[in-house]
Amino acid sequence: MRIMARIGAPVFAEIDKDVKRVVPCLHSIGAPLAEGQKDVPWPCNDEKYIVHFPETREIWSYGSGYGGNALLGKKCFALRIASNIARDEGWMAEHMLIVGIESPTHERTYIAAAFPSACGKTNLAMLIPPAGFDGWKVWTVGDDIAWIKPDETGRLRAINPETGFFGVAPGTSMKTNPNAMATLATNTIFTNVALTPEGGVWWEGMTDEPPAELTDWRGKPWTPAIGKETGQPAAHPNGRFTAPARQCPIIDPDWENPNGVPIDAIVFGGRRSTTLPLVYQAFNWSSGVYTGATMGSEITAASGGALGKVRRDPMAMLPFCGYHMGDYFRHWIKMQRSLSVTPRVFHVNWFRKDDKGKFLWPGFSQNMRVLKWIVDRVHGRAQGKETPIGWTPHFNDIDWTGIDIPLDKLKADFEILQAVDREQWKREVIGHEELFIAIHDHIPPEMIYERELLICRL
Ligand code: GDP
Ligand code: MN
Repeated sequence: MRIMARIGAPVFAEIDKDVKRVVPCLHSIGAPLAEGQKDVPWPCNDEKYIVHFPETREIWSYGSGYGGNALLGKKCFALRIASNIARDEGWMAEHMLIVGIESPTHERTYIAAAFPSACGKTNLAMLIPPAGFDGWKVWTVGDDIAWIKPDETGRLRAINPETGFFGVAPGTSMKTNPNAMATLATNTIFTNVALTPEGGVWWEGMTDEPPAELTDWRGKPWTPAIGKETGQPAAHPNGRFTAPARQCPIIDPDWENPNGVPIDAIVFGGRRSTTLPLVYQAFNWSSGVYTGATMGSEITAASGGALGKVRRDPMAMLPFCGYHMGDYFRHWIKMQRSLSVTPRVFHVNWFRKDDKGKFLWPGFSQNMRVLKWIVDRVHGRAQGKETPIGWTPHFNDIDWTGIDIPLDKLKADFEILQAVDREQWKREVIGHEELFIAIHDHIPPEMIYERELLICRL
């Protein structure tokens, strides 16, 4: 909590200054030690209750030491309870990263993006521009949660309510996310990763070759040979780092500004091997809300369930919204009334695959090219092509400077990446319908009309 939240005397001073709202939270792992009983490395209770009381605004968490259940300032407060407060007060608590994109002329554009867990928020928040983007800078404001409010001029501004990153360790490396690696180099707590004999840490994907000898996340000896034989990774796939945000080399100068940063674009995204193009822009706010409301992600090994099936996860908030999802869509629709400038809404998919099951898009740093199109659209500088689902870039609307892929292959891949296949999309709309049936008694009419319009265009 010391890493993830503002704590201690300055917080109490704020509470004492005037009548400030306090949300009481209680956490217990539910594993008291009897007199003389020896402690264990991961105490917990078999029965776990992570309970939120939206009416009285309290959180009781019992039995689990996992960060998501123990860091009560995070999902429990800053999303579940805060989304409930936000609805009452006319603002938004969202599962979004916040990132600033600075052009060579020092124009800074802030983007908030909602992806479900394990779909690339932390990576996008700390992106390093690729070769060919000299003079471009990316600034991290937050990697997981955004509190977004209209200011007195009717512009949306966002703060990151956290002070640290609670990120997935496996897959994080100097190649994929050097800024995260620099952030977690000191003052960091690791859970369920492997230990090196020197007292360091290791996880799958940190280096191409694993060290010769490790202690695995369960505390047992692990070597590459043992791993091969048992099929067990050295680190748990959900092993985590808890690192102070201020240690991030590209932390935004305004990341602690209480007035937040202005949000010009909202981006939704998920893990989809088919159907969803690399990027498209929704036609307007209500079609943007529809895009977010119907977003989905393919089930990964980490999220459980039938692999490859699309799980609808509206605005990446299904596990985190503190009230009925249909009312939440209505709140999104209504937000526009308090705005003088409406942020543009986009959808991205870094995970579309070819017919051999290979990712079509290199991702990571290269996502900067997509962000630049988004920034240019926001400022009215980039062209788009009208499709049944929204605006998509032509090949020449994307800045390809410095990319290391032969032009003919790049063009061919881009065709498939951006394709809007009407047959696939008709099946997609039936998936939307399943979600709408599940929450039909609260669904705002705008969502039904948007779906009808989409069907007509298809
Ligand atoms: P978060 O849980 O939303 O913060 O997601 P992370 O940023 O931790 O990334 C989750 C997983 O997606 C990691 O294994 C990343 O390596 C992977 N990932 C992130 N960005 C990309 C991308 O652009 N392309 C591909 N193929 N994988 C990505
Ligand atoms: Mn993350």
